[in-house]
Amino acid sequence: MIRPDLLLHPTPKGLYCPPGDFYIDPVRGAVDRAVVTHGHADHARSGHGSVLATPDTIGIMAARYGEEFTATRQPLQFGEKHAVEINGVRVWFAPAGHILGSAQVVVDWKGLRIVNTGDYKRRQDPTCRRFEIVEGAHVFISEATFGLPVFRHPDDRGEIRKLLDSVRLFPEKTHLVGVYSLGKAQRVIALLREAGWDQPLYIHGALQKLCDHYESVGVKLGPLEPATLDKGQRGQSEKFRGQIILGPPSAFKDKWGQRFPDPILAFASGWMSVRQRAKQGGVELPLILSDHADWDELTQTIREVDPEELWITYGREDALVRWAELEGRKARPLRLVGYEDEGD
Ligand SMILES: [Zn+2]
Repeated sequence: MIRPDLLLHPTPKGLYCPPGDFYIDPVRGAVDRAVVTHGHADHARSGHGSVLATPDTIGIMAARYGEEFTATRQPLQFGEKHAVEINGVRVWFAPAGHILGSAQVVVDWKGLRIVNTGDYKRRQDPTCRRFEIVEGAHVFISEATFGLPVFRHPDDRGEIRKLLDSVRLFPEKTHLVGVYSLGKAQRVIALLREAGWDQPLYIHGALQKLCDHYESVGVKLGPLEPATLDKGQRGQSEKFRGQIILGPPSAFKDKWGQRFPDPILAFASGWMSVRQRAKQGGVELPLILSDHADWDELTQTIREVDPEELWITYGREDALVRWAELEGRKARPLRLVGYEDEGD
């Protein structure tokens, strides 16, 4: 068997494939040929010569960076039957379940198979395709954003119920929900719809473009209205009492959020399981909703994929490497730099 690091190895620009001459999620500077797992800003940058990604990731990049985000677009559907060859290296995508369009990259060369998850989660998400196990991986590259045994994300529906219970309990207050603009926003909206909230949801302008994009590819988000207040019209903020307003977490820290009557600050993020983080951010209603695998999902996935070798990246590598070694698995941290997920 060929040494796997001849097929993929970390470089300062990102994971590089020498025989294929491409990078996966290059983070520093433009490259000629990029394979992009998903649209979050720390994985998808503009300015590369060509971008191979799922059609949804390409659509998200165009919506965020403008149509000129790359010289050449190469949309590729999920599935081994759609595999392409790049300089003799076979590349194909499997769903990663992280956000709309998110993919695991499968790289096949001379009998060796490496599967790179990008960011992923295992639970069902109404806004994207569910994670699928790829068989026959010699090397499995797993993310580890929540790679510590303390991270166990509760059931999403329960977290959404917490929000709706609070809205019913305090009908005179305005619920401000901090959500990252790509992925988390649309998932929280879709989960609220599933839970029966069919009234308009009010959104900060920073969410509009991506919500429109999700709608345009068939993800139903229901009635959304801009959470805007015109200056000089007294009393108009009263209409927001009893309503839910979604915006980027930064928006609620500045004056924008304070204009709403009796606000209750909520934040939907995997980090909300860390009480200190919620407290520091002034979050009164922490909602533990993550688009990443928690500890149980990470370890379950590694057992199911059962690779010959495990490479750990994007986050807390050490605990997961240690766990794998105790299980008798060959594992090492990749120590890729520059990835701080914007949509945790
Ligand atoms: Zn991500």
